[in-house]
Amino acid sequence: ASTRLIALIGHPVEHSLSPRMHNVIYRHMDINGVYMAFDVLPENVGQAVHGFRALQIRGFNVTVPHKQAVMPYLDATDRTASVIGAVNTVVNDSGVLTGYNTDSSGFMRSLEYRGIDVRGRDVLLLGAGGAARAVATALAMHGAGRVTIANRTPDKAAALADDINNYVGGSVCSGAPLSDIGSISCPYMLVNATSAGMWPHVESCPLPADYDLSGVAVAYDLIYNPERTLLLKKAEEHGCMPVNGLDMLIWQAIEAIGIWFDIEVKYELALKGIKNIENFS
Ligand code: NDP
Repeated sequence: ASTRLIALIGHPVEHSLSPRMHNVIYRHMDINGVYMAFDVLPENVGQAVHGFRALQIRGFNVTVPHKQAVMPYLDATDRTASVIGAVNTVVNDSGVLTGYNTDSSGFMRSLEYRGIDVRGRDVLLLGAGGAARAVATALAMHGAGRVTIANRTPDKAAALADDINNYVGGSVCSGAPLSDIGSISCPYMLVNATSAGMWPHVESCPLPADYDLSGVAVAYDLIYNPERTLLLKKAEEHGCMPVNGLDMLIWQAIEAIGIWFDIEVKYELALKGIKNIENFS
């Protein structure tokens, strides 16, 4: 059989960890495929998708800033991805392109893998951008208790909470200004889906200095560069279980590979791939 191409489109993409993670996985799982990143300018997203159709490639990942822009060029979008309003994985089934959001399913898989059960438990979610949309949707769909979405721009948090509540037909989510979170005490899990703390702004932390982390069981930071953000360091000092963004990155890839190749990849293999550890069996 001929080698199948899986692409990644984004702008910029040269620092993406995905090519090496996928290619290591493909080699070790005997998948006859190659994963290549393409830096696609925003005005060329449609042309890139048309090109992938013409080449009949098996699928592609989509990263920042194209996760919304790609949607009009697809034939179908999975319902969860429609609610999130963003697609990060596209599969080509005999010329029909369908978009999924494996950030959302990957986030949930990462919780399951670590034995973190959010059912009926309160979550404080920081941020209301694309990543927060994926996380909030996953939490609401999987029966979390109250999900408070706190954002620097409060209107975005309120709008996201409304979208999710309409989707699940309840009132799981509420929006709040990030500056008010001192009054939201002791959630079971705290999730940082803001970019505050990401390299090179490693001294930045989205939490107010006096925020009381005691009693928070899990602190999940979607950032993976650095692997230990200031928020995670503080959380660890208060006895929270720390989880960094590598987990979500790994699980969204495992979910995508499942969609393209109907294969279940082990977490440990993907982790070694992402850390560029080749000499393992
Ligand atoms: P967006 O640009 O869509 O959203 C950014 C969010 O961060 C907004 O809510 C914004 O608030 C907030 N924000 C930015 N700077 C600050 C600050 N200094 N203080 C407080 N809030 C701030 O980005 P994404 O949602 O795509 O990504 C967010 C983070 O999640 C990034 O660090 C990204 O790397 C990470 N991520 C990780 C993934 C993984 O697999 N681990 C997957 C996807 C994303 P406002 O609305 O007020 O501007």
